[in-house]
Amino acid sequence: MKCKICGKNAEIQAFGMWLCRDCFLKLFFRRVNKILKKYWHGEKIWVALSGGKDSMALLHYLWENGYPVHGYHINLGIGDYSRSVEDIIRSYTEELGVELLITNLREEYGFSIGEIRRKPCSACGTVKRYLMNKVPRENGAEILVTGHNMDDFLEFFIKNMLGKNYSWSRKLVPYLEREHPKLLPKLRPFYLVGDKEIEIYAKLKGVKYIKENCPLAKLSGWKEILYEIEKKKKNFRYEMILSVWEMAYFFPQEKREIRECKLCGEPTSRDICSFCTLRMRYGKKSTG
Ligand SMILES: [Zn+2]
Ligand SMILES: [Zn+2]
Repeated sequence: MKCKICGKNAEIQAFGMWLCRDCFLKLFFRRVNKILKKYWHGEKIWVALSGGKDSMALLHYLWENGYPVHGYHINLGIGDYSRSVEDIIRSYTEELGVELLITNLREEYGFSIGEIRRKPCSACGTVKRYLMNKVPRENGAEILVTGHNMDDFLEFFIKNMLGKNYSWSRKLVPYLEREHPKLLPKLRPFYLVGDKEIEIYAKLKGVKYIKENCPLAKLSGWKEILYEIEKKKKNFRYEMILSVWEMAYFFPQEKREIRECKLCGEPTSRDICSFCTLRMRYGKKSTG
């Protein structure tokens, strides 16, 4: 096969065509750079690192392209899995020379996701949203960057439609502005690239990441379906995400009053934030 762009030998099939290594990397850069150029204006970046391919590839991308990047990781305490994740993140950030900050949920807050029997994934979401905003902000972050990718957003979009939670799709955009002085703006540079493209990027660049999924995660199967459609409809995912991006702004911004939690002072729409609620329920005697 010949590269569709330069005519050299092509070994990669991505972006709806056959490509050589260099042309793939150029296209990948173009898609990611499109988002960064539009929404990043020199702020200090903190990447939320889960150890998976998306966040680790994003760390590599930002590092390689000279962004002022720092890493943040939460050890969620999901047995051996969390130990392997922390090891790989420590060694990879050290290799790249990127500053890393880690919060150990069990040590600092007295509970871990591994101990939560009822809806651990929802508790995990609460913990991540809370700490990823609080800890980097307290350490000088101006923007929080996550590895959510195109396929994740397409999956959320389908689920929102089927669940008739239409307005939730307002958040399926590459950039979310600051809603409160204590809430960091969020940027998703991988909005226009999906699992497949990121996997190829990670392989070509030798990005280190943990291959296994979280033992608690349940996969919905929607991503496989997206790829099945793409076998028959070239560029389906990309065209779809461009529509989702435009469509998202048709939904009104959810009007919620943001106050400060009576216990911890962090932003919340309730008297006591959901993190403090979890902590009171599962944490060992709270100590400040
Ligand atoms: Zn080429
Ligand atoms: Zn609180």
